Amino acid sequence: VRITLSTERCTGHGRCYTLAPGLFQADEQGHCQLIVADLGPDTEAQARIAVGNCPEQALEIVD
Ligand code: SF4
Repeated sequence: VRITLSTERCTGHGRCYTLAPGLFQADEQGHCQLIVADLGPDTEAQARIAVGNCPEQALEIVD
């Protein structure tokens, strides 16, 4: 299971890296950067919360 980021959609609200700081970080403009792409059983739950809270649908979980 992987998480993907559309940098074209991300407008930098920061919800993802606030909710799941182990998975995402901010770049200099406050846009999201992926720290890890491959998800395990514990990180997948965090990732789903971040996906559900991204207002731009920039994050997606791919099986
Ligand atoms: S929550 Fe979505 S729009 Fe906001 S920084 Fe994260 S990926 Fe970008």
